[in-house]
Amino acid sequence: MAELYAVRNLRLCTKDCLCLYVCPTGATDTEDSIIDRNKCVGCGACANACPSAAISMVPKVMPPQQPKEERVAEALRSLIRSKTQAENLAAQLPGALAAAAARSSRLMAEDLCRESGYMLPQSEEARVFLERLRTYPGIPLEVVEGLLNTLPFPEKRDRK
Ligand code: SF4
Ligand code: SF4
Repeated sequence: MAELYAVRNLRLCTKDCLCLYVCPTGATDTEDSIIDRNKCVGCGACANACPSAAISMVPKVMPPQQPKEERVAEALRSLIRSKTQAENLAAQLPGALAAAAARSSRLMAEDLCRESGYMLPQSEEARVFLERLRTYPGIPLEVVEGLLNTLPFPEKRDRK
C-alpha cells in the first residue's frame, strides 16, 4: 500500500483541535497550521478524528498520470484556449452577470487544466507548461522558477 501523509485544508478547519490530541507525533501542532510532513507517520488518526473533514491522507508518491492520446490532449488544449478567451472577453464587460461568466469560464479552464495533467505536480505536462510560462509577459518569473526547481516531476516519458 502507498505510504501516506496528512494534509490539512485550512479553509475547512474550524480549529476544533481534535487532531492535536490524537496525533502520536505532534505533526498537527504547528505554528502555521500546516501539518509537519516530516513528523507525520501516516497513521490517519487525525483524518478519522477531524469533525470538519479538513484532513486528507495523500500518497507520498503520486501514481503516474494516465497517458492521453494526442487527439484527446489537443481537444483539451483547444477547450482551455476557448474558455480562457471567454474569460478575457467577459472580464471586459460591465455587470455582475459578466463577472459571473468570467469566473465560470476560469473555473472550467482550471478543471480542464487538471484533466489535462497541467496541475499534477508530478506530470511531465506540468513541467512543460511551466517552462512555456516563462515566456509569457507579466508572469511572476520567480514563482515559476521556484516551482520548476522545487517540484520533482518524476514522471518522464517520451512526448509525441
Ligand atoms: S480536527 Fe480538523 S477542524 Fe479540528 S483543528 Fe484539526 S484539522 Fe482543524
Ligand atoms: S496521520 Fe497520524 S502522524 Fe500524521 S498528522 Fe495525522 S495523526 Fe499525526
